[in-house]
Amino acid sequence: MQFDTIIKGGRVIDPAANRDGFFDLGLRDGRIAAIEPNLSAHAGRDVRDVTGKIVLPGMIDTHGHVYQHVTGKFGLNPDMVGVQSGVTTVVDQGGPSCMTLPGFRAFIAEPSKSRVLCFISAYLVGGLEGHYYPELYGPDQVNVAHTVRVARENPDLVRGIKAHAEIGGASRWGLDVIRLGKEIARGAGLPLYIHLGQLWPEKEGTHIDPDELVRELVPLMDAGDVLAHPFTRHPGGFISTETGNVHPIVWAALERGVTVDVGHGSHFSFDMARQVIEAGIKPYTLGADMHGYNVKVASKDEDRAKNPFFGVAPFNLTNAMSKLLYLGMDLGEVVATVTANPAKMLGLESEIGTLAVGREADISVIECLEGAFDLSDNSGVAVTAPRMMVPTFCLRAGEFFAASSPLVPPAQEKMAA
Ligand SMILES: [Zn+2]
Repeated sequence: MQFDTIIKGGRVIDPAANRDGFFDLGLRDGRIAAIEPNLSAHAGRDVRDVTGKIVLPGMIDTHGHVYQHVTGKFGLNPDMVGVQSGVTTVVDQGGPSCMTLPGFRAFIAEPSKSRVLCFISAYLVGGLEGHYYPELYGPDQVNVAHTVRVARENPDLVRGIKAHAEIGGASRWGLDVIRLGKEIARGAGLPLYIHLGQLWPEKEGTHIDPDELVRELVPLMDAGDVLAHPFTRHPGGFISTETGNVHPIVWAALERGVTVDVGHGSHFSFDMARQVIEAGIKPYTLGADMHGYNVKVASKDEDRAKNPFFGVAPFNLTNAMSKLLYLGMDLGEVVATVTANPAKMLGLESEIGTLAVGREADISVIECLEGAFDLSDNSGVAVTAPRMMVPTFCLRAGEFFAASSPLVPPAQEKMAA
């Protein structure tokens, strides 16, 4: 058999297929034609030697902000977050709304080399400037019927609903927006993705107990719904401020099938993550949550520092994977958070998230460097990790993309003292 491309000599890790071992991939006409231990190099026109590297099903970033231009400085270029970072599928979390989805399709999803999907915003305006103005996000700014209709009409793009449960919104409107978001999700037959952790300042003269908010929120969530930012350094994550332990109600939710997405972003806290993971909760999906205020983009911009989600700690999806490894999850579990599990979250497990003969060649190749690397979060915690993952390249529908994005942070190796 002749192949267009052979990916040769790598360690293939594919949790959905229960595969972890050394295999070559033979690709033809943009699809996977063979997965075998030793394909002859002569059988391929283009042979890519990936000895020492790890070959994965195309990585899926469950939490991106790529509605470029329309969401202002918040929205990044979809291919910089996607294929140029070794990621073949990017899910925009709450950028497009029922009113702005056509633009998202025409200007973002269609021209991108990456597969771009979204969890549609529960709010009419979507995620403009990263939800900067709270008055745009109350219950009067939600239209259930319109959003359900647009979600149902665009199943190829819309895979869920995005809303926020946090003390700033709750101080203005209680959890009414979440109830409306849940109504949309039910009407559309899609999962609801809930942002945890403070987003807006509380309304003047009010005070919301973040523990009480979590207790009120979690019973609204059903199997398949997603709790995001469990490791947030802001009030309102998985750790109760009263007890310092995981909220008992979170355990009950996980038991009935609610899942957990890291949504790394500027929220990620090593201390919170360590406590939650040590308590026995492992995230189901990862999600880098990169946007224009928490990653360094090429242009200089003074306004960035004023944004509530401003962050300086460099990160991306593979950096976030390195943090989960550091925190004790094993390599297969970490890989599942960016492949098999998000494919299920998106209801696309028959198309993406695993490597199988006959499927589109949707493949990520990464490297797991060994040494001593700096990993940091935005609460000022820095650790030295023995392993650091970096993307090398990916193939999307058989097309090759080097990991050349300026958003991939360099692996910071500690100098020997
Ligand atoms: Zn986000």
